[in-house]
Amino acid sequence: MRGWWWGPAAALLVVAAVLMYSGLPNVWTRWLRQTALRRWPAAGSRVALTFDDGPDPGYTPRLLDALKACGVRATFFLIADKALRRPDIVERMIREGHEVQVHGMRHLLVPALPPGRTAEQVFTAADRLEERFGVSVRWYRPTWGLCNLATLWWIGHRRRGMRLVTWSIMVGDWRKAGATPEAGARVLLNRIVRRLHPGAILVLHDSDETWGSEAGAPEQVIRLMPMLAEALGKRGYRLCRLSDLFVPQEVADSGGWPQDAGRGRRDS
Ligand SMILES: [Zn+2]
Repeated sequence: MRGWWWGPAAALLVVAAVLMYSGLPNVWTRWLRQTALRRWPAAGSRVALTFDDGPDPGYTPRLLDALKACGVRATFFLIADKALRRPDIVERMIREGHEVQVHGMRHLLVPALPPGRTAEQVFTAADRLEERFGVSVRWYRPTWGLCNLATLWWIGHRRRGMRLVTWSIMVGDWRKAGATPEAGARVLLNRIVRRLHPGAILVLHDSDETWGSEAGAPEQVIRLMPMLAEALGKRGYRLCRLSDLFVPQEVADSGGWPQDAGRGRRDS
């Protein structure tokens, strides 16, 4: 017969296992700031502009128009399922010099996924994007920035050459920050400028389909683009794609950047 301690001991083991698998990896990446890239100070005045959760047929094409109008190129962390449903939008991103990386197959809560489903979020999604669009996908930003032990183990062992990236500036753009998109954009701009630092990685969102986001919020993100480019320019900063952060300063100064660097295309 089992002793009285069997039940509590089993419960304790389960709690410990859940903590190990779903909790601690996020303490490691988010609070201890290990493993995931969140800023690149060597990039000096460059600030990486990144978008999560797209492509969205309602917002992304107009966001691309806004980026084109202010001559800015960005990195899009795509939901692979959505990208494959609207390949025309992704093809336009690539044609216009933006970088395409992976945010997941679908927008799922990774800490709650078993290893097999986790692998699908990272590696299968990256493979699908590469096969369909001929780009090199090496950066993974987990949905809601949350991972599990399987993610951390694989990334730590450089499976498929994938690397983990989060952000250093996040401003709550998934909720409407003002009464109108223009007012919201001004509020977001203030929040960004207050947190600006060399080699920052700024995350914004071009979809309102994700759980927790407010319908219509990406309108303010679209309005924000010209204001952001101008405000950062005045302060000596320049918006770029994630991979442009790693271009040596002398190459950037010589004018080799950004045209030649980090196209995100496969070499072969
Ligand atoms: Zn997301």
